[in-house]
This record gives sequence, structure tokens and C-alpha cells, in this order.
Amino acid sequence: MIMMKFGGTSLEDARSMKNAIQLVKRELPRTPIVVVSAIAGSTNTLLSAGTLSLDGKLDQATQQLNDLHERHVLLLENLVETRSTVQQILMDLKRRFEELKNLCTGIAILGELSPRSLDAISSVGERLSSMIMTEGFKEEGIGTELADARSFMVTDEHYGNAMPLFDEIEERAKSKLNPLIRSNKLVVTQGYIGATRKGVTTTLGRGGSDYSAAIIGSVLGAQEIQIWTDVDGVMTADPRIVPEASKLKVISFKEASELAYFGAKVLHPSTILPAVRKNIPVIVYNSKRPESSGTRIVDNPPKSNAAVKSIASKRGITVVNIQSTRMLMAYGFLESIFSVFGRHKTPVDLVSTSEVAVSLTIDNITRLEEIVHDLREFAEVTLYEKKAILCIVGEQMHTTAGIADRIFHALRDINVMMISQGASEINMSLVIDEHHVPEAVRGLHKEFFEPVPELEIFEAVSP
Ligand code: ADP
Ligand code: ASP
Ligand code: MG
Repeated sequence: MIMMKFGGTSLEDARSMKNAIQLVKRELPRTPIVVVSAIAGSTNTLLSAGTLSLDGKLDQATQQLNDLHERHVLLLENLVETRSTVQQILMDLKRRFEELKNLCTGIAILGELSPRSLDAISSVGERLSSMIMTEGFKEEGIGTELADARSFMVTDEHYGNAMPLFDEIEERAKSKLNPLIRSNKLVVTQGYIGATRKGVTTTLGRGGSDYSAAIIGSVLGAQEIQIWTDVDGVMTADPRIVPEASKLKVISFKEASELAYFGAKVLHPSTILPAVRKNIPVIVYNSKRPESSGTRIVDNPPKSNAAVKSIASKRGITVVNIQSTRMLMAYGFLESIFSVFGRHKTPVDLVSTSEVAVSLTIDNITRLEEIVHDLREFAEVTLYEKKAILCIVGEQMHTTAGIADRIFHALRDINVMMISQGASEINMSLVIDEHHVPEAVRGLHKEFFEPVPELEIFEAVSP
């Protein structure tokens, strides 16, 4: 059995959905389970309809929902021409969008939008795309069953970023999906969404469909997890910033998760973990160029001479500078700082310390006000917003001399605010102003990857 996950970028319209269906058809002998994201852009639209309603802009929200409805109708009509069920699905679509509009009206009237309601809204994207794709498979004559992920993807109640409960998922996924597989049905399910033990809809966080595929693959013991997207694989940099980026043929789990965490959107950061535990290879493929061999993400890739393998960047970072109000840092100072962030459930990404000050970065600022209030009980606090983290990754970096020199040479015209190296041994992270990201990434890319290094793991990508 293999997992085949299709991202929204591979499901934007009927043409790309037909293409995805053909890719699955080729793999039928390996018993694929198909995990789908919402069609391109729809999760953003759904979330924005929710927030527009909260701001009292119900007309705009309704307009956006009508457009999204229209896109789904077009998708279905262009994908499925012969089946008698089309009318039924069109009715379902209509009902779903009526429900969404009612929800938005409720939000606008009450002036309240809870994370739970937002999950109810944003889960609709995957529920619709999976329903339509299932019809597409049936149109191709493939016996297909749509399994609602909420019947087995059990999570905690942390709406918007729910944590999967692996033991329960394993039990339920086996009893729900294995009989379907045994009866030779192609199983289609949704990524990104789950439900609490009580059956309330949750989501796994943005980009979470990759995670869903890895979770299902790991509990059912898949041989391989295929992530189908719109680029050739994991690249030496985000191709939207560096069009010349090359593809990495293979990369370690550790490197990939570091890259994902620091902004390489191609994979959700947690994707890696369930797969690592079971030693299941994850392969990133381009649905627009399926002949390309993709990037294999494996536990222990063959050693390569490449010190630096890829550059990631993450914008929207806030630097919190915390200065001890005493002259020197007393013991317990760091502990007090971290307990504030812990209490407010806010992850800290980078940390650097000096004799009297600590700088750290966060990207979730929902509790920033409370955090600063608590820190000011014992320290002076300064905030720097609109920063970005640049992350340079490679497993051999820490044993190769001269890398830092090359990094700083490439960034010589850019002010670097913070540096952190060593903790994971495979990356170096720097904080810069957000607006310098394109220039910095291009500069680093030129330094390390142009021309394409003559090493086995890199593959130039023809435009
Ligand atoms: P999907 O809809 O398939 O999940 P995403 O938009 O989530 O697609 O992820 C794919 C995008 O990730 C690419 O279009 C690319 O712009 C971006 N990306 C960022 N960094 C990298 C990288 N190092 N390698 C490949 N893609 C990257
Ligand atoms: N549709 C969800 C999102 O846009 C999940 C995903 O695409 O992985 O975040
Ligand atoms: Mg994604």
C-alpha cells in the first residue's frame, strides 16, 4: 500500500484533477490511498470569509463564497460528464454553501468567531474537493470509496492546530480503511481535517494535508508516502524567490524537517515525524512533470560532499529582546523567561544570549501582549517586528570549514540582527529585516548553488 497526497496546487481545476486521477490510475497495482487537499486557494478564501464576516463585511464574504461555489460547480461539471449522480452532488454543493453563508451571518450578527467555528468553515474545502475527486475516479470506472477523515483522524480539542491522537487513529483507521482496501476499493480521504473524540471537526494547522498523509501511512504501514505538488521536489531554495533553484534528489528527514519548519512550504513540518518512526520514505513529486524523479526524504541518505543543501526563509517573525533589570544575569533568569513563553503556549524558535540580555524569536504573536506584560515584571523588553529568519541547512555544515565566512560574504550588504548555529548541528539561522529576504536568499543561492554544484544529489531543473 502507498499513500498519494495531492496538494491544492495539483487540484486547481478539472484539468489538473484529471491529471491527478491518471497519476493514481498508474499506481493502482500498488494499492494507493488518496489524500486530498482543498482546491488551490480555497482554504484561504474560506478563512477570509470567516474573518470578513467577523468584521461586519458580510457582503464581501458572501461574494467570495459565491465565487468559490462557482469554481466547484465548474470543476465538477468539467470533470464528470456521464454520471447520473452529478445532480445530487450539485445539490450537496449548494447545501454546503448555504450552510457556510448561514454560519457567516451568525458570525456577523454575534461579532464572534471562535477557533472551533473557524475549523468548521475551513474544513469545507477538503470535504468538497474529496467529494468531487471521488466522482472523478468513478467516472474513470474505478471502484472508489470516500472515507470521511473525521471518522478516524481523532485529535485533541486544540482547534486550528489540533494534535492527532495516534493510538486511537491507528485503531479506527485500521477498522475503517482496511476492509475497504480488502474489497479492492480505491480509498479517497481528506487531508488537514479531523475530529475530537466527541466528533467535533478540527484541523491540523495550515499545510496539514501532508501531515494527514504521513499519519495514515504510518498507522497503516504504507511502503511509501508520495507528496504531489507543483514543484519538482525539495529545491535548493523556494523557486518563487529563486527561479534557478535546483532539485535535491535525496535529503535526510532531519534536514527536510528543519527546512520545513523554517519556511519551505513544500512540506508541513510535522510530516516527517510519523514517517521517520516507521522508516517510510517520503517522496515529493511534481504533478505537472510526473516524469521527474522527485526528492526522496529518507532517514539515512548516502553521504554527500555538499555542505549546504538548501536555504529556507520565514517571514513575519518578531524578535523579543529581554534585558535583565539587574546588572548581571542572575541564575534563574532564563528559566523565568522561558516559563513565561511556556505559560502562554508560544513556541520560541531562535535564542541568543549575552551577559545581560536575551534575544529570541517567535512567529505566533497571538499572546504577545500578555507575554510582554509578564516579562516586564522582571526585565526590560523591546520588540522588533517584521523580521525574517533565514535558515541554511546541510548535515555536513558543522564539519566543513569556511561556511560561515561564505554566508557572511554573501550577506555583506544586509544587516544581520541575530545568529544561531549549532543546536541541531545541521543549520545556521540568521535574523534579518523581512524586506531583505529576496535579496538575501538570492545572494546565498548564488554563493552556494550557482552554477549547480557537480555533485550527485543536485539536479538542475529545466524551465
Ligand atoms: P501544495 O498545495 O502542493 O501543498 P504548497 O504551496 O503547500 O503546495 O507547497 C509548494 C510550494 O512550496 C512551492 O510552490 C514552492 O513555492 C514552495 N517552496 C518553498 N520552499 C521550497 C523549497 N525549498 N523547495 C520546493 N518548494 C518550496
Ligand atoms: N488546505 C489546507 C491549507 O491550505 C491544508 C493543505 O493544503 O495542506 O492549509
Ligand atoms: Mg502544502
